[in-house]
Amino acid sequence: MKDVYILLGSNQGDRQDFLSRAVEMINDRAGRIIKKSLIYVSDSWGFEDPVPFLNQVIEIETNLAPANLLDQLLTIEVQLGRIRPFEGCGCSIPMSIETGKDPAQEVNRAYGSRTIDLDILFYGQQMVFTDTLMVPHPRLHERRFTLVPMNEIAPEMTHPLLKKTMSMLLRDCGDRSTVTALNTADY
Ligand code: AMP
Repeated sequence: MKDVYILLGSNQGDRQDFLSRAVEMINDRAGRIIKKSLIYVSDSWGFEDPVPFLNQVIEIETNLAPANLLDQLLTIEVQLGRIRPFEGCGCSIPMSIETGKDPAQEVNRAYGSRTIDLDILFYGQQMVFTDTLMVPHPRLHERRFTLVPMNEIAPEMTHPLLKKTMSMLLRDCGDRSTVTALNTADY
């Protein structure tokens, strides 16, 4: 049994509903939820988008191996509608369920904006470096939207590579973007 931390993010549609549905699906299919952070509002990071992200970190207990856990999370992302196969003709052209626009135009949009994004931050103290999976997540220490909720639920947890706790990583993080708990945010 491993203690795993997962980052959830959404900036399309009913963002809170996408987060809560993803949490339920993870609990059913991937592992029992141990802890949930508050939901935070964070500016889009690395691309321009007027809709802020909602982010949350959860801790789960799982028996799934890292690759199987990733498979489950990717399936949940697809089922919550990031990009769905075109329904009706049996072809595999991806089409946004929200806009139904030309898929070629939708690729860039999908790169930044998303109904749900699920990232494995930590898999116990284990490190995984494969073509499809990097754990600990290689950019988690650079982003306040990850470190703020991680620090809320596991301030003393040590990063297995960087050998610093979450509170130390947050203190030392150069990112200055705003991350605000949802219940105090005015938007
Ligand atoms: P993105 O759409 O930017 O979230 O990227 C998703 C892809 O990143 C997945 O298909 C994974 O193969 C890959 N990936 C690598 N490391 C991780 C990780 N720690 N958690 C989730 N996805 C990961």
